[in-house]
Amino acid sequence: MDWDRVLAGLPMPAMLVEREDRVEAGNGPLIALLGDGVVGRNPAMAVRAPSVLAAIGAVTRQGGVQEARMTLRRDGQEQVFQVTVSDQGEGRVLCVFRDVSEEEKAGEMRRDFVANVSHELRTPLTALMGFIETLKNAARDDPKARDMFLGIMEHEAGRMNRLVRDLLQLSRVEAEERVRPRDRVELKPLLENVIGSLKGVAERSRARVELAGDPVTVPGDADQLTQVFTNLIENALKYGREGQVVRITLSPEDTVRGPAIRVDVADEGEGIDPIHIPRLTERFYRVDSHRSREMGGTGLGLAIVKHIVSRHRGWLRIESEKGEGSRFSVVLPLG
Ligand code: ADP
Repeated sequence: MDWDRVLAGLPMPAMLVEREDRVEAGNGPLIALLGDGVVGRNPAMAVRAPSVLAAIGAVTRQGGVQEARMTLRRDGQEQVFQVTVSDQGEGRVLCVFRDVSEEEKAGEMRRDFVANVSHELRTPLTALMGFIETLKNAARDDPKARDMFLGIMEHEAGRMNRLVRDLLQLSRVEAEERVRPRDRVELKPLLENVIGSLKGVAERSRARVELAGDPVTVPGDADQLTQVFTNLIENALKYGREGQVVRITLSPEDTVRGPAIRVDVADEGEGIDPIHIPRLTERFYRVDSHRSREMGGTGLGLAIVKHIVSRHRGWLRIESEKGEGSRFSVVLPLG
């Protein structure tokens, strides 16, 4: 058999080992992975993963198929491979390397996400159960205490409600992310509507919201864009300073991918430390968890923004100077 031709037909790294002591053949992806000169070498020098070497030894002696794992550090990145070692007769074994790093990362993210959601739900739930217990016993015949506890319970239930709403929204947006929206959306009236709906929030912190820029139409999903700007403007009001002006500006921008429109939402708050900025759009990432929860935040708002903007083939830019306020810019392609 012409092993070089067989291996060349495989898209992933693969090598043939002869009698446990020589790499007889290897394909291009293998050389890219383990380096030039891997063919002809002793497998122990080529692959420094004890579990892979043990599998090669076992399959050479007993035949059959075995699986092993190998972790490589390259350019500061960890790569995980699932290695299938199979007997090919005459003392030869075939090793095929499958990169499972992405799967591993996805699995880890899923586990983290479930742990985060459980934690976020458990806190208000624990409070609710505590107050139910108190209402059934100690506060049973105390109308004043009862009213107070019911108020807190309403607040906690509201928190759970918002969390579930945001989670559903996030999963819906993620499911649709590949399909670019096709409707035409007039951005300026949409922003005016959002500002109107947040009037109460603005009044509570005596803030003013100003909108500037020329009318423009973009391809988009009006409900989702409403969500994006509601989240951004609400954040600007929540994390900004009392009596501030929140400025929303529409301006044309030429990008490498053609003409686009940039919408800036700038507040006069205390700003965000640069170390936090790259992580702000992660689910449940907050600079100050206590403050966010106190304001009714779920920690999901910017994650939702990021997914919607990416569905629109646009991007989000965050700039902030500590003490000078923050500017969240959404760039939406026009074409
Ligand atoms: P939350 O529900 O906590 O507001 P978001 O995803 O909307 O969740 O925001 C994540 C975090 O980013 C917030 O907890 C806050 O720390 C920070 N943040 C968002 N917008 C601003 C802003 N305009 N100024 C300062 N910090 C902000």
